[in-house]
Amino acid sequence: MVFLHDLTRMTAQTHFDVLIIGSGAAGLSLALELADQASVAILSKATLNSGSTQYAQGGVSAVLDTQDSIASHVEDTLIAGAGLCDRETVNFTVSEGPARIRWLIEQGVPFTQEITPSGKRDYHLTREGGHSHRRVIHADDATGAAIGSTLNSHAQRHPNIHLFERRLAIDLIMGHKLGLNSRRCLGAYVLNRDTGEVQVFSARFVVLASGGAGKVYLYTSNPDVATGDGIAMAWRAGCRVANMEFIQFHPTCLYHPAAKSFLISEALRGEGGRLLLPDGTPFMEKFDPRAELAPRDVVARAIDHEMKRLGSDCVFLDISHKPADFITSHFPNIYARCLELGFDITRQPLPVVPAAHYTCGGVVTDQRGQTDIEGLFAVGEVAFTGLHGANRMASNSLLECLVFGHAAAQTILGQLDQTPMPPDLPAWDESRVTNSDEEVVVAHNWDELRRFMWDYVGIVRTTKRLQRAQHRVELLKREIHDYYSNFRVTNDLIEMRNLLLVAELIIQSALSRKESRGLHYTLDYPWQAPLAHNTLLTP
Ligand SMILES: Cc1cc2nc3c(=O)[nH]c(=O)nc-3n(C[C@H](O)[C@H](O)[C@H](O)COP(=O)(O)OP(=O)(O)OC[C@H]3O[C@@H](n4cnc5c(N)ncnc54)[C@H](O)[C@@H]3O)c2cc1C
Repeated sequence: MVFLHDLTRMTAQTHFDVLIIGSGAAGLSLALELADQASVAILSKATLNSGSTQYAQGGVSAVLDTQDSIASHVEDTLIAGAGLCDRETVNFTVSEGPARIRWLIEQGVPFTQEITPSGKRDYHLTREGGHSHRRVIHADDATGAAIGSTLNSHAQRHPNIHLFERRLAIDLIMGHKLGLNSRRCLGAYVLNRDTGEVQVFSARFVVLASGGAGKVYLYTSNPDVATGDGIAMAWRAGCRVANMEFIQFHPTCLYHPAAKSFLISEALRGEGGRLLLPDGTPFMEKFDPRAELAPRDVVARAIDHEMKRLGSDCVFLDISHKPADFITSHFPNIYARCLELGFDITRQPLPVVPAAHYTCGGVVTDQRGQTDIEGLFAVGEVAFTGLHGANRMASNSLLECLVFGHAAAQTILGQLDQTPMPPDLPAWDESRVTNSDEEVVVAHNWDELRRFMWDYVGIVRTTKRLQRAQHRVELLKREIHDYYSNFRVTNDLIEMRNLLLVAELIIQSALSRKESRGLHYTLDYPWQAPLAHNTLLTP
């Protein structure tokens, strides 16, 4: 049931059973599972396909081969997570995997097939770092785009799903706004980026599916929308966040000024790609016996080490020793994009650098995606479920989106009848603000933040660098707070405010971890503590 009505306060107020903030794999899969029984609004702050999902190349991990087993996928995930995964969550996620893949196939996702040696047509599975079996199902090398466009086309056609592009959720609306339960979420204030108006969306349930926070770093594989908005909104609403220090740096982004962080999939190394120094020497064996197939953190640190040692801007990734038709058929997307940029991967190595790639921490949820706040769920990269521990294993993240999207949908449907629609909520208060006089402040602070996060809170950390970054965040926060209090909100201002908060949470978490584990590496505590613990921050 959907009804829009005008309030005398001039703000259109919109009621839905479920408001989903984010239109990636998590948000769309959740919406499709809800929509036969509930009215659903999906917001995207840019176009519907602007999230990380669109860019996922490698695929989705699941146990689909008879030689493989749930136990093995669980074990690999636990090893990658360096002692911090929640075993029960890993078990749950991995066990649900095959069913979620079947659901995607039923939706029509065109996963790549092959003719097996026994002459049977079956899905082609690839192998990625940390996986001890071939278990990554994919649609060529553009899996995320295939999943996104398939789910999107179903969502567009479903009469109960209402898609809103260029709508930026600013903050969650909590019960205390109406003098009700302050730990209940009732909706969100949403900036319409085309009109500049702030609208009120009220809902029985709100789901954060807003993705990660890679844009807090100068170099990232993430798209522009990845500014940690969901984490920041949840924190301001009173949710705990966990393990924010574990930022995964993808080892191999194309090093090219015109390619805005174009990622060279791990699958390239999985299929025999070698990492080389500028003089052509392979170097990964020096760092790990698994060489190019070592987990991402090991590869990223090795590259960082070699680049710093040699003072070079990049290293090289070479797959040109493989037959050209093998390369073009396995990696058509990477091949075409690199060719556009002047690199023929069938003939030459590619210059690559590491870049911030995945936010392992996030809003604390249980196995149903439920956060600390009543009526508020978080699914996908925004969430901390305990699956990834101190390091995400490749292709486990899309799996997490699907498994937790499904679990949250089941839970919401189970609670729908008992949960009343919130009453009309107060309009956004703009009575004390004016138009900004100096947008340059936001642009400048944005650049400054991302640079010092890269330099001081990057792949290799020290306490001194973290403290330096913390001090700078404090200064920028004050400036942005003044700005936020006095001027009309804009997209950039909201994102900057959120990025600063996320940066603060990352630094605070990194400072509190007095060891090196998984993705967190500090020269001051280079050892791993005997006991593993999560970093839980409470607002
Ligand atoms: C280049 C790249 C390659 C990857 N490859 C793989 C892979 O092969 N396998 C794998 O498992 N994982 C991969 N990942 C990770 C994976 O793609 C992501 O973790 C996953 O897609 C996240 O999905 P999501 O639905 O949580 O969020 P996203 O797909 O990032 O979507 C976020 C959505 O939230 C919206 N949004 C954000 N903030 C707001 C706001 N304030 N208001 C309104 N809307 C908002 C955005 O507009 C967007 O629609 C890759 C990531 C990248 C960047």
